[in-house]
Amino acid sequence: MRKVKLIRVVTIALMAVVIAACGKVMITGRKQLLLYSQGDISNLSNQAYSEIMSQSKLSANKANAQMVKRVGEDLTSAVESYLAKNGWQKEAEGFDWKFEVIESDQVNAFCLPNGNIVFYEGIMKITNTPDLVAVVMGHEIAHALAKHGNERMSQEVMMGLAGQAISAFIGTEDQKKQLVFQVAFGLGSQLGVLLPYSRKHEYEADRLGLIIMAMAGYDINVAPAFWEKMSAGGGSKSDFFSTHPSDEKRIAEIKRILPEAAKYIPPKN
Ligand SMILES: [Zn+2]
Repeated sequence: MRKVKLIRVVTIALMAVVIAACGKVMITGRKQLLLYSQGDISNLSNQAYSEIMSQSKLSANKANAQMVKRVGEDLTSAVESYLAKNGWQKEAEGFDWKFEVIESDQVNAFCLPNGNIVFYEGIMKITNTPDLVAVVMGHEIAHALAKHGNERMSQEVMMGLAGQAISAFIGTEDQKKQLVFQVAFGLGSQLGVLLPYSRKHEYEADRLGLIIMAMAGYDINVAPAFWEKMSAGGGSKSDFFSTHPSDEKRIAEIKRILPEAAKYIPPKN
């Protein structure tokens, strides 16, 4: 009897935590579980970013670096002002947007959950126009704003995947958080290559990424051809496209979203 009661108390307590930790993804309104604060997410991302950057060299190609910065700034300022005007302003808080290009032949780009975005020189051969940079940039910004990193860490803890490692681990709370972060992103195994997101997160990042592109006035119609080119083998061996498999279904979904995204294009005056 006592055990049953205890289980009930624990269940109710756990439910309270889960209810308190429920968030909503901007624009899509999808409910999500977020067990970590944006402060935790920032600290952990900052550590990872310094580690990656300490072992990388910034690109010497000034034109590429400027293009990536300009597109990043255009997209983030457009989405931030949309969120502020539409009651989602809290969703834009706590990010530290950075847009860098590093010297590496890897065809890759990533965004840490604090908004630190890095393109590799290798991907710049493909994303060689501002619109094409914006396809990848919009997708990466969407992962950050939709808090996919926090959600992934939270799911991992709830499913007990990281739980066993954590409970066996003797360390401070901060060290435990760091461990969950590393498990969630696969950091430490291969520098700067983050584990792929789930299909659900990928599709949501595609949809929100196109919407963000449209808000900033970039040409969303280049997106299907970009992903098609990648699925045709253009980048099939790359790191970015191994974590972003672009099959027919994904491309069809991107095409389906275009009219919805087009509604966010600001009117010309
Ligand atoms: Zn992605």
